[in-house]
Amino acid sequence: MGYGDEIMVAGEARRLWRAGDPRPVAVLDRHGRPRRHPIWDGNPRIARPEAVARGLAVQTLVNGPGCRPYVDYVAMHNEFAALFPGRPFTTKLCDPRLPWRYTAWRASPGELFHVSRREPGDYVVVEPHLKAGASPNKDWGWDRWQALVSSRRDLDWVQLGAGGVRVLEGVRQLETADFRTACGLLAGARAAVLPEGGLHHAAAALDVPAVVIFGAMTSPANTGYASHVNLFEPMGGESPCGQRVACDHCAQAMAAIDPAAVADHLERILDA
Ligand SMILES: [Zn+2]
Repeated sequence: MGYGDEIMVAGEARRLWRAGDPRPVAVLDRHGRPRRHPIWDGNPRIARPEAVARGLAVQTLVNGPGCRPYVDYVAMHNEFAALFPGRPFTTKLCDPRLPWRYTAWRASPGELFHVSRREPGDYVVVEPHLKAGASPNKDWGWDRWQALVSSRRDLDWVQLGAGGVRVLEGVRQLETADFRTACGLLAGARAAVLPEGGLHHAAAALDVPAVVIFGAMTSPANTGYASHVNLFEPMGGESPCGQRVACDHCAQAMAAIDPAAVADHLERILDA
């Protein structure tokens, strides 16, 4: 997965520090090996693998691909084994019978270093795109994003990211070469309206108020932040469905998130 997961790691490292252990955190992969990620560069709470190899005194945190704290691997393994007896377990198989299953773990805001923060501006960041490979169930839908923007023509709306992508009408694009550059611009925003993903984790780390469109596939009880307005619509259930393939239930959940209601939430943030 992408930046969001690794920003959540930085949140875990901060949580461990705050719990009273001053040693830097060695982030271990599922085989117990220290990991690195460029988004942690400059983070004094996270030990680099070479420092661990030199014998630096560390505390450890297991968190990486195949060992994320919000994923219930035991439940997923059992469901996989029932469907495919004898086949080696993988979480990579996109099958409607094998949704993500979640633990009770909840993210706390991460930290980002080496971010050139743009001076606070008057713009609002909006992100109608999902990263490649994201579940289609996280997609609010182009027309709803457009309806939101069109309902507030008075705002200075901004899209970040690589050039060449589709830009909403009434939105200006600030092309950003990489994720860190995008974070610098995000840091200067008055507010943001975002899908559940890397930028919403960055917004929490950078103290940017945001409305986050969850829908029903993932839950703010896992990957949401108390500082944000989290729009989760489990459609009568309580649990996120976890489906990686397009699902009717999630489509209904997204349809239940009205652009006018999102605009109201944003209004309250801007008035605060
Ligand atoms: Zn669903």
